[in-house]
Amino acid sequence: MPQADLGSQTSPTCCILCGYKDNVSIQTYKRDYYPPAAFISIVLAPLVGVLVLLLFRVRYELPLPFCTGCWKRFRWAERFEALSLLGFFASLIFGVFLLLAFESLGLLIACPVAAIGVIVWAQIHKSRSGPKIKKIDRKKVVIAGSSYGDIVFSKTTTARIETGF
Ligand SMILES: [Zn+2]
Repeated sequence: MPQADLGSQTSPTCCILCGYKDNVSIQTYKRDYYPPAAFISIVLAPLVGVLVLLLFRVRYELPLPFCTGCWKRFRWAERFEALSLLGFFASLIFGVFLLLAFESLGLLIACPVAAIGVIVWAQIHKSRSGPKIKKIDRKKVVIAGSSYGDIVFSKTTTARIETGF
């Protein structure tokens, strides 16, 4: 397994996404892993499910080389994700407002449904703007590096991994 130690590479570092060598610096790419079983709990009981997701979350903080352009694009995708989550809560309030104003239960339900659609869109956009994850589980994450081959971060190598809170 190749050990990820990109910071001390002697050869010029290439951007993990586009492979360019100009304006490349090491950035901390954060990626959360949630065990698939945790998503079942969110369907059964949303509030308990959110707690289960947070408790079993594994947060990887991976030092990866990005060029300025790719990193900016990824940061915007992260902001869009944060906005989409805020938008969900706003949609609940807006839905209640529409219910009171128009006495329409349909509008109350349509708002959060549309907001969930935006969340899904933001998630897809974020994963497309970031490095390609080949495999991720509780113990390791494998990133497809453009010119490096696969980069493996695990609990025993350089990646900092936080579990739960
Ligand atoms: Zn790039």
